[in-house]
Amino acid sequence: MKTITRQKPFEQILEDLAQDSSVFIIGCGTCATLCGTGGVKEVAEMSEKVASAGKIVTGTAVPPTGCDEVTAEMRRAFKTELRAADVILVMSCAFGVQTAASQLNKPVAPALDTLFVGKEGPAGQYSEICMQCGQCVLADTAGICPVTTCHKGLLNGPCGGTNDGMCEVGNGRECAWTLIYNRLQKVGRLDRMRRYHPPRSHNAVLRPGIMTLTHSREEAAKH
Ligand code: SF4
Ligand code: SF4
Repeated sequence: MKTITRQKPFEQILEDLAQDSSVFIIGCGTCATLCGTGGVKEVAEMSEKVASAGKIVTGTAVPPTGCDEVTAEMRRAFKTELRAADVILVMSCAFGVQTAASQLNKPVAPALDTLFVGKEGPAGQYSEICMQCGQCVLADTAGICPVTTCHKGLLNGPCGGTNDGMCEVGNGRECAWTLIYNRLQKVGRLDRMRRYHPPRSHNAVLRPGIMTLTHSREEAAKH
C-alpha cells in the first residue's frame, strides 16, 4: 500500500514560493520515492530547478518516511540550513507536509499533489484501492471496492450504463459492478448483490477525524 502522489507543475510550485528567497527541500524515502515524485533523485532535480529560478536552496533531506520522520534528530542535523530557509518545500504526501509544518515552525509548500492510497500494478502503474470512506462494504462486494472501482462510486449497482461488462464512461473501462457480481458468484455469495446500502451520510461531522485507541499500543502489539 502506498500513498500515490504526483508532482505539481513547477510554475505552481514557484507561485507558492513567490514570497520566499530561500528554500529547504524535504523528500520522502518511502512512498514518494516509489512513485518517483520525491526521492533522492527528484529532490536533487527540484533543488536545481529552484536554484535556477533564482532562489537559494539552503539544504535538502530525504528522511526514510516524510510523513513521520521529521524528528528532533533531523531538526538538529539540519539546524542551520532549516533556520536559513524562508520556507520548507515538501516533496511527500500531504501527511508529510502537515508533519513538517507542525514540527518545523516554518511556512511550508507542497511540491506534490496527494492522489490516493493505491497499490502497484505493472511497472510504474498504481491503482486506487481505498478512499478511506469510513463505511467499508467490502464484505458485500467480494472485496472489490465500489467507491474506487465504480466510475460513479455507486454503493448499489450496476447502473443502467453497464453493457457487456463494460462501463458507459468508455475508454475500455470495465463495469465495477459486473466485476463484483462475477466475484460474488465465484465465492458463492451472490445473495449479497441483494443487500441494499443506504446513501452515505453527508451530514456535518467534527473535523479533523479522531480515533482513540481503547487499549494501549503495547497491549495491541501482543495480539
Ligand atoms: S468501501 Fe472502499 S473506500 Fe470505503 S473503506 Fe472500504 S475499500 Fe475503502
Ligand atoms: S456502468 Fe458499472 S462501473 Fe460504470 S457507473 Fe455504472 S455501475 Fe459503475
